[in-house]
Amino acid sequence: NADAAMYHAKSSGRNNFQFYSGEMNRAALERLHLEKEMRSAQDLGQYQLYFQPKYSAKDLTLIGFEALIRWRHPTLGMVPPLSFIPIAEENGMISQIGLWVLEEACKQVYEWKKTFNYAIPIAINLSAYQLRSTTLLSEVNAVMQRYELSVNDLELEITESVAMRDPNACIGQLNALRIMGVQLAIDDFGTGYSSLSYLKVMPVHTLKLDKSFVNDIGQDQNDEVICIAAINLAHSLGLKVVAEGVETVEQQTFLVENDCDILQGYLLGKPAPSEEAKQFILDAIKANKLNLPLAK
Ligand code: C2E
Ligand code: MG
Ligand code: MG
Ligand code: MG
Repeated sequence: NADAAMYHAKSSGRNNFQFYSGEMNRAALERLHLEKEMRSAQDLGQYQLYFQPKYSAKDLTLIGFEALIRWRHPTLGMVPPLSFIPIAEENGMISQIGLWVLEEACKQVYEWKKTFNYAIPIAINLSAYQLRSTTLLSEVNAVMQRYELSVNDLELEITESVAMRDPNACIGQLNALRIMGVQLAIDDFGTGYSSLSYLKVMPVHTLKLDKSFVNDIGQDQNDEVICIAAINLAHSLGLKVVAEGVETVEQQTFLVENDCDILQGYLLGKPAPSEEAKQFILDAIKANKLNLPLAK
């Protein structure tokens, strides 16, 4: 078991691998510990979804949310997704986690429909594993039916690097989802290695411009040029553009002036647990800034 493995790693680390630095041992041990804890996290209810609002750039109406997983561990504290999702991806646990996220997000759409009488879409992040999975389509279908969702209620985000790892397989899977009618987005756009010819045939609706480019608006002219180029590229391919990581008014103004469609970032709203995310919806309703269809 993992404890024995950890003990073994520790002792062999001392006796046999003296060339390795203590840092490397510690990282390996931490990983083993995370893996062990991850095995019970779901059953113990330690995972939680946070929701970050997305706004239309031109009039700041609320157009939906992105679901982001959180792992609240009693002694490790908040484990950020980038510290455990890649591990779950390697050890296969992502398949359970991914299903849980899909289920929770759809349940949330359903509950908000009941509470507010509006259909408020939620985007979830798909892992590389899910994108390869032959059961993804039927799983998405089943969960959406269970919560009586329409296809516009759910969006799926795939990072550019995952999409481009095996673009042909990815296109097949995305096409099937698109035919179903589900909204699709390429996440972290600009950080992977998109070939433009693949981008042209990726059956997605939206590009999410990575926050590293947004971050330096007002400071780095190269990044500003990249933002403008990415927006224009997306528009000429008939895609909408979301800017991630908008933190300042200056960034917001720049993005609005340069025709970006959708804004997401701490300036407009941080990811928040369901109960707090509700407040974004209430605020939008009060300000008459909720431009979404009524729930049927
Ligand atoms: P992502 O999908 O690109 O999500 C955006 C990340 O940027 C989130 O980090 C969010 O909290 C953060 N963010 C949003 N606005 C701002 C801002 O204004 N400034 C800054 N500095 N950051 C901002 P988070 O929640 O730590 O998630 C990191 C990544 O982990 C996500 O990147 C996504 O790739 C992955 N991830 C999160 N939840 C899930 C999930 O349920 N399933 C899978 N497969 N991956 C997930
Ligand atoms: Mg995302
Ligand atoms: Mg992103
Ligand atoms: Mg990211």
